[in-house]
Amino acid sequence: MALLEIKNLVKYFPIAAGFFGRKTGDVKAVDGVSLSVEDGETLGLVGESGCGKSTLGRCLLRLIEPTSGEIVFENEKITDMDFDRMREMRRKMQIIFQDPYASLNPRMRVGEIIGEGLQIHGIASGDELKDRVMALLSKVGLREEQYGRYPHEFSGGQRQRIGVARALALNAKFIVADEAVSALDVSIQAQILNLLQDLQEEFDLTYFFISHDLRIVEHVSDRVAVMYLGKIVEIASADQIYADSQHPYTRALLSAAPVPDPTRKAERIVLQGDVPSPINPPSGCSFHPRCQFAKKICAEEEPQLAYDGDHGIACHVFGPGAIVKPN
Ligand code: SF4
Repeated sequence: MALLEIKNLVKYFPIAAGFFGRKTGDVKAVDGVSLSVEDGETLGLVGESGCGKSTLGRCLLRLIEPTSGEIVFENEKITDMDFDRMREMRRKMQIIFQDPYASLNPRMRVGEIIGEGLQIHGIASGDELKDRVMALLSKVGLREEQYGRYPHEFSGGQRQRIGVARALALNAKFIVADEAVSALDVSIQAQILNLLQDLQEEFDLTYFFISHDLRIVEHVSDRVAVMYLGKIVEIASADQIYADSQHPYTRALLSAAPVPDPTRKAERIVLQGDVPSPINPPSGCSFHPRCQFAKKICAEEEPQLAYDGDHGIACHVFGPGAIVKPN
């Protein structure tokens, strides 16, 4: 069952220039994304930096207001909710940020940071609040005596544990993890990923796991969506993406990732150039200037996400019912 559904979600940031601040264009950060997140699953979202992943993650919680489109959470359209109703909804929808230090108020003690949401929503106060925060500290592998310390007294991994405890405090069901382990050392990354997986089992959590690192996404995700210039270009189970990806962009990302098995020979597809500007994306398939398989039609017509079973691919050449052959 879908916990969250996104329908044709768009987020454009207007660009203003000149003395009168006249609008001269838009940064098309998210450009018509439709997908659903099943209850209890981890949906990984991958793509190079600047492809719109984080904007999409923030739009899901309406930390950034979408320009258009619909977000439905537990069968309620949250894109229509007023401020108070949305604040209530955010108890169930939380986010863990990439930089745990920047996201924690340096002047607040850890106990206050974790308990803040419980207080704001009038869920607990006094001794009960303290007991609940203590329980959360131990749930994320921190010690009770760390309750009164400040964020700067913790390591990066510990700070991310504080971020996880804060997300859990209000009994969240859905958590956006936005590059949640990217800033950490590899050994600490593994600890936080294991913690997130244990908590998912214990509290029946659903994750929207954003990362530029395919290795991490493969490790944690049930399904993977690949994003390029504001659009989903491929989506499938994690196994399918890693064993049988079809979209040339996904294959290029995979070929650039390290292969842990020395007996497995990786196909090498080199990505040409940089990600084009989202202000003026290329015509047709926005990947065509970098794609070694591009045909004439690729610059003329935008390929739509088409499905073969649960495997969605947006490509004229490798998508289901492709209209052009690779050679
Ligand atoms: Fe490459 Fe064309 Fe497919 Fe786009 S539609 S990924 S340019 S082959």
